[in-house]
Amino acid sequence: MSQPADLPQRPGVASGTTEELRRTNLARILGLVHREGHLSRAELTRLTGLNRSTVGVLVGELRDLELVYESMPAIGPGNRAGRPSPIVHPSRSVVAIAVNPEVDAIHVGLVSLGGLLIKRVRIETGGGPSSHEVVEITRAAVAGLLAGEEGQLRVVGIGLAVPGLVRLSDGQVRSADHLGWVDEPLTEMMAQATGYRTVAANGAQLGMRAEGVFGAGRGVDDLVYFIGGASGIGGGVIIGGQLLVGAEGYASEFGHTFVASNGALCPCGATGCFEAEVTQAALLESVGLHPSQADLLVEAVASSTDARVAALVEHDRALLRIAVRNAVNLFNPSLVIVGGFLSALVGEGENAIATVANESIAASREHLVIAPAVLGAEQLLIGAGELVFSELLFDPAAILSV
Ligand SMILES: [Zn+2]
Repeated sequence: MSQPADLPQRPGVASGTTEELRRTNLARILGLVHREGHLSRAELTRLTGLNRSTVGVLVGELRDLELVYESMPAIGPGNRAGRPSPIVHPSRSVVAIAVNPEVDAIHVGLVSLGGLLIKRVRIETGGGPSSHEVVEITRAAVAGLLAGEEGQLRVVGIGLAVPGLVRLSDGQVRSADHLGWVDEPLTEMMAQATGYRTVAANGAQLGMRAEGVFGAGRGVDDLVYFIGGASGIGGGVIIGGQLLVGAEGYASEFGHTFVASNGALCPCGATGCFEAEVTQAALLESVGLHPSQADLLVEAVASSTDARVAALVEHDRALLRIAVRNAVNLFNPSLVIVGGFLSALVGEGENAIATVANESIAASREHLVIAPAVLGAEQLLIGAGELVFSELLFDPAAILSV
């Protein structure tokens, strides 16, 4: 996926100058190492087209900034003779705090450069938390996650994955129906309470961002993403390598696409919305699982022999088919990723197309692939980390001011 278009200009760097070129190349090297996990200097030279000594200088600068570290490859019988190329790794000590409030719990994690969720905690709330509760619980959770690591970890900021509409310009949560929130300044509250730079976006869009960089959507320029969770259904769209955000950040709300003409009233005020008709809670209840056991749902549904479960799955699958049909016909993606509880409704391989995409225009599904999300429950937190890291990845030298 390409860089989002909303990144800031590098402050104090005039365009077309040697300094701008240096900063751009630093960003290219760090971006590659971040996305790939690790690369040798030789691979970085090949991938960037820069010469070897320039790559060496840039890696050295990133190492001095403590954004990467290097190791020597293991010497084995298969290694060619000659000087081995050092392996460059993203620093594990540069972290983002990722927060995902849901209707039943708040998830807080630490995500390192390289997109690794190194620690996470789930705090049960026994109902939708208020924005004040999210701030207070997060503050306590962060203190616990960082305990004993002071001085070891460098926290770049906090990323909030919100199950609702988030205004792109300032992170204001315009609405989160399942939490009962309207116009909550959660981003500002969190920044004030913790002292960390805080950014926020719609959780589903962040999940897609994670899948696009590290998961099933790696290297795919045209993809559609559906995810279902405790707080409803969301999604995201990447077209031509660019994330579709809309005028203010509210794009790709697949949970509120119209799928049932005699449908139920949705909290958004309309009727027949996908997420008003198809819920994780109903599927969990049908197979006798508690909300905290959502990660067992796919297997429980697959192994169920209960006719009532089969009927509910068939009902939900028919509506998923309508939602996927609309998305495929609108966006002509090469890949549709289905994650969260919606995975329980989808088959595999050819069967997946037959199950959820066979009502799309034939030409649009000719080369279409339907794939499950691969990052599992971690994708929203990894996506929130990715949001925090976006400024750093755009201008690594700016970390000097963090
Ligand atoms: Zn709705």
